[in-house]
Amino acid sequence: MSERAPPSSPVVTRLAPSPTGLLHLGHARSFLLAWWHARSSGGRVVLRIEDLDRERCKPELVDTCLRDLEWLGLDWDGPPVVQSRDTSPYERACAELLAAGLAYSCVCTRAEIAALSAPHAGDSEQRYPGTCRGKWTTLEAARSSSGRAAGIRFEVANGPQLVRDELHGERAFDVQREVGDVLVQRRDGAFAYQLAVVVDDSRQGITDVVRGSDLWSSAARQLLLQRALGFAHPRWWHVPLVVDEGGERLAKRRGDVALAELRAQRVDARAVVAWAAASSGQPAEPRCTAREVCARFDLRACPRTALVLSAATLAGLRAATQ
Ligand code: GLU
Repeated sequence: MSERAPPSSPVVTRLAPSPTGLLHLGHARSFLLAWWHARSSGGRVVLRIEDLDRERCKPELVDTCLRDLEWLGLDWDGPPVVQSRDTSPYERACAELLAAGLAYSCVCTRAEIAALSAPHAGDSEQRYPGTCRGKWTTLEAARSSSGRAAGIRFEVANGPQLVRDELHGERAFDVQREVGDVLVQRRDGAFAYQLAVVVDDSRQGITDVVRGSDLWSSAARQLLLQRALGFAHPRWWHVPLVVDEGGERLAKRRGDVALAELRAQRVDARAVVAWAAASSGQPAEPRCTAREVCARFDLRACPRTALVLSAATLAGLRAATQ
């Protein structure tokens, strides 16, 4: 098994927004926590724009994302990695998996997969039943004999995989039972999030991944891919999501919690920063800058349960204008 970064090495975290919709208060909290985790120990922060999903990404939102992060007082080291600008690292990783016999070509359509498998309980993703596993030895053979475009799937063994999270401890995920063999390149040629994130976390030297707890099950897939590609595992910190009073996670389409909207209403970013800090167990003044929270920051103080953003708290934030 490959190694984790030694605890003594400087922390490197990443901010990895996907420009699929407007960033909201939940993103603000996760990004601030990631940034504080690195900056409070003199570590580095890198920025990555995760824009490989051509169907869902809106290029015009990238600028809005960057302005939101700057508004919160966040900075980063070096130029951002924009995934769509150079896909050769993902191509190489796929070629490596294929050459090692750890991945195979798959010509199944989404509709075929949906017809064959019920979604896993609590997960909107379909489980891939392994239809194309072992059928072809090369992508060309898959294309010519099926007459279709071929994608690539990473083969996942049966059985549970333990994933250690620094906030929550260990949890077992059975990736094969939950989602089956993992898609790493789609039939339209787009590289999948699971592959790209593993390649980029490795090439950007990420030691600590701080992100929303909805991605904890993805960490199991990422751990298997890291092992197959010989990459180190980062430490994972899955921070609880922000939910509304009905228990629903905040949605990117909800205008009243969008950072761009709060900015436009001249809300003081220091009130948002203070809310994110206080709700994460960090000492904070009622209004403070991101930098001011660093001195006494400890990610382990973050509560382990979802944070409810009440209507009253939201109204208070929206009223905290400059
Ligand atoms: N780009 C993903 C998102 O915005 C985050 C992925 C990750 O942190 O691994 O939800």
